[in-house]
Amino acid sequence: MKIHEFQAKDIFRSFGIPVPSGKLANSPTQAVDIAKGLPDPPWVVKAQIHAGGRGKGGGIRLVNSFEEVERAADEILSNPLITPQTGSTGQKVRQLLIEEGLDIDKEFYLGMVIDRKLESPVMIFSQAGGMEIEEVSAKHPELVLIEAIDITHGFLPYQARNFFYAIEPMPEKSILKEFSAIMTRLYKLFISKDCSLVEINPLVITKSGKVVALDAKINFDDNALFRQKEITQLHDQYEMDELEAEASKYNLNYIRLDGNIGAMVNGAGLAMATMDVIKLAGAEPANFLDVGGGASEEMVTNGIKIILSDKRVKAILINIFGGIMRCDVLARGVVKAAKEVEIKAPLIVRLEGTNVEEGREILKNSNLDFSVAKDMEEAARMVAEQVS
Ligand code: GDP
Ligand code: MG
Repeated sequence: MKIHEFQAKDIFRSFGIPVPSGKLANSPTQAVDIAKGLPDPPWVVKAQIHAGGRGKGGGIRLVNSFEEVERAADEILSNPLITPQTGSTGQKVRQLLIEEGLDIDKEFYLGMVIDRKLESPVMIFSQAGGMEIEEVSAKHPELVLIEAIDITHGFLPYQARNFFYAIEPMPEKSILKEFSAIMTRLYKLFISKDCSLVEINPLVITKSGKVVALDAKINFDDNALFRQKEITQLHDQYEMDELEAEASKYNLNYIRLDGNIGAMVNGAGLAMATMDVIKLAGAEPANFLDVGGGASEEMVTNGIKIILSDKRVKAILINIFGGIMRCDVLARGVVKAAKEVEIKAPLIVRLEGTNVEEGREILKNSNLDFSVAKDMEEAARMVAEQVS
């Protein structure tokens, strides 16, 4: 689960990690009111969306007057924000964080993730802060330092020193002490809140010699949310993919992907195998949709409707192996959906298993336009041909 920067900064504060003072605004007027309560300008107006790279997209504005606060707030709130992580249509911004602007002397990167190969949390530090860490790592791997943490000991002082030795020129002792404290607190936060990622980019030294987390990003391990009730409450429904939100209403396992083949499958294993054969046939799935083992007619209808409301979908593949799920139920669901919304994209069906004859009969007797594939491979080939 992801949360917003302002929420992550509240958590930072509670762990003693210093952040700039600031507050949340929903309108330009409110943004100005907040600025009035902050220290002298500059101030920073920051779009609150889950996607990163906001600075590049114009979602982070350094301003010097109340008029500028109002204008920046108005602009960000009235236009979708496009960043390298939002996709080309961008994302609507509903909330802004208004903060005191700091005089930056140096920017660093500090983060933590779980490293699956090392089977442990790792802390990542770089003196090339403010840039995308992936890019720094690709171009200047020597600038990205990683310390694996043994959770029986926690983050140890020598590990902080390993980071410090690489900084050129080495900052003053008081700053290093502050860095070290922040790293220890970050580790505590990461473990106690069941995080999967924490990022401070940039962690800055200000001209007046303070160390401050200027940006904050936290992702949580979904599988641990049952014991992180107060974190669950931070969930922002507006940040969820629209179709994923719609699918979750009907208990459908739907995940949006990047391609243009809409796929409806029963069972997660078969759904994954279907994604594979679609890719092998040279096409790309637009979604993963598992209607589940015992899907009802209504779930099938809703599944088809969700696929159809995705404008990127150029062809649809229904791949059902009837076990607990009966093929006639599937067929009725598809026919019902077709009555309610027009199926414009070519439809390829591969049906096998329980009540398959009855299912085929229902499809045949409807005036639905569709093609039948005899097996998965053929189904994938047929659907790929539609988009090639
Ligand atoms: P991101 O682009 O989504 O990662 O958003 P950030 O919060 O990291 O802001 C992007 C960049 O804006 C930072 O790397 C800083 O260089 C700059 N920035 C943010 N806040 C301040 C500030 O208070 N003062 C100054 N001078 N620059 C800031
Ligand atoms: Mg950042």
